[in-house]
Amino acid sequence: MLNIVLFGPPGAGKGTQSERLKARYGLVHISTGDVFRALDPESELGKLAKSYSDNGNLVPDEVTIQILESEVLKHPDAKGVIYDGFPRTSAQAEALDKFLAKKDTSVTLMLSLIVPEEELRTRLMGRAKVSGRADDADPQIIQNRIDNYNKSTAPVADFYDAQGKLVEVDGVGPIDDITQRLFAAIDEAIA
Ligand code: AMP
Repeated sequence: MLNIVLFGPPGAGKGTQSERLKARYGLVHISTGDVFRALDPESELGKLAKSYSDNGNLVPDEVTIQILESEVLKHPDAKGVIYDGFPRTSAQAEALDKFLAKKDTSVTLMLSLIVPEEELRTRLMGRAKVSGRADDADPQIIQNRIDNYNKSTAPVADFYDAQGKLVEVDGVGPIDDITQRLFAAIDEAIA
């Protein structure tokens, strides 16, 4: 089973690139952010997730790990999964390792999109016009998301680096060029 963690700060292009990886390698795409946004906003879980995500804070690990695991279990026949926006903390990374080990599989590689902060801010402000996402529209919330990434999420790359699974990919430039870089990294990992 091919298990690819697509990693990077908010606005790095994870969602866009996930769609392309999904099409080329026949993978299931799981975005925890998409799952949270699809929850009924009137449900307890929906209200809880929104109370964090609307402010650019991370949803607590216990909730997020459960959501991720139940999404994976919805696809028992998947030949592989792209994890987009998960894991975002060290606890989530450890939980994913344990969960996959129980399924006799493991993370194949982490692709980390590298994009400078100034470019992230510009992209997210631009995306707000089409995404309708409250967390894209406000510069303070954007900054909070970037700060949370730097503080809680960036160390997750070290976790996979220690396992020899981290590949950093330049996330700046034409979208097609970035896709080709990702394809090349995956092809090399599975060759
Ligand atoms: P995203 O669509 O990946 O930008 O995620 C949007 C929001 O959903 C984030 O700002 C968090 O509030 C929440 N979220 C998504 N994935 C996670 C995760 N793995 N851990 C905690 N919160 C998450």
